[in-house]
Amino acid sequence: MNILITGGTGFVGSALTAALAETGHGGWIISRRGGAAVLPAEGDAAFTLVSWEALEAQPQLLKNVDAVVNLAGETINQRWTPAAKEKIRDSRVETADRLSRLLESADALPEVLIQASGVNAYGFSRSGTFTEDSSLGEGDFLSGVVRDWEAAAASIPARRRAVLRFGIVLDRDGGALPLMLLPFRVFVGGPLGSGEQWMSWIHRQDLIRLILYVLDHEDMSGVINATAPQPVQNREFAQAAAEVLHSFAWLKAPGAPLRLALGEMSALLLEGQRVLPGKALEAGFRYRYPDIRSALEEK
Ligand code: NDP
Repeated sequence: MNILITGGTGFVGSALTAALAETGHGGWIISRRGGAAVLPAEGDAAFTLVSWEALEAQPQLLKNVDAVVNLAGETINQRWTPAAKEKIRDSRVETADRLSRLLESADALPEVLIQASGVNAYGFSRSGTFTEDSSLGEGDFLSGVVRDWEAAAASIPARRRAVLRFGIVLDRDGGALPLMLLPFRVFVGGPLGSGEQWMSWIHRQDLIRLILYVLDHEDMSGVINATAPQPVQNREFAQAAAEVLHSFAWLKAPGAPLRLALGEMSALLLEGQRVLPGKALEAGFRYRYPDIRSALEEK
């Protein structure tokens, strides 16, 4: 398959392009760090970094793109100042718009679009459980970003489209997990705030496997929750982390100082949502890391 990826240089994208290349696929990664557009050789199982401008100057190169994966977006792991919030939202909406325009000018209609999204779509809740049929949340910054992002992505041309709402992506080699485990490594770990907040997560290997599964299965389309089947409350995460690292989960971090120190983005630590992957399970997708302990013990 000839695949076009945005965000292919990131935490998810780099693992995805490696897995795709391993299974014989290749194509382009559109990147702010990319260079000139060179047509990949027929059957070349590798990805080339290319700039937006280079492809915009030669859109005809995209005529035979089979699949598009849109992952790009400014990190949310930063203090949510007004400028940062604008960047978090605009980087996603503008990338989706730019991708639509690029594919339209190439007169391309890829077989499939995989659009990244987040479980933040459902808003925050301590008591609710969300599936693909649940309605979108309102009122908080992130659910608004996701709503706008998914709406912009709806214009990206493709015969089939799948919107994968990622849970927190865990992997010992990057993303949020190393930081989440740090307090346990130095024996000052414990639940954050009340510890009751839900965390819907997925191991990065399972996310990559799920993306490959969706690429390969024509019946997988629409919203798909990309989460493990067993979300956990924060206190369960703390307990599992302490056990796996032979540490303790005794030091509770009260919510108020975290709110004071981190401002609005403290919601990422103190709030969450319980999201179940109804479609993936129904389709028979097999998780390598279905529960948090197995993910933390990663082999
Ligand atoms: P990363 O932050 O690792 O990578 C995102 C990529 O987006 C970067 O490689 C970069 O590509 C591009 N990018 C970053 N900032 C901007 C910007 N301001 N404007 C345009 N492009 C930008 O993200 P992840 O791999 O962790 O996640 C991929 C997507 O999945 C993201 O959109 C994220 O919001 C979403 N997601 C991730 C979760 C997670 O736990 N990791 C959970 C839920 C959703 P380049 O520099 O090459 O242009």
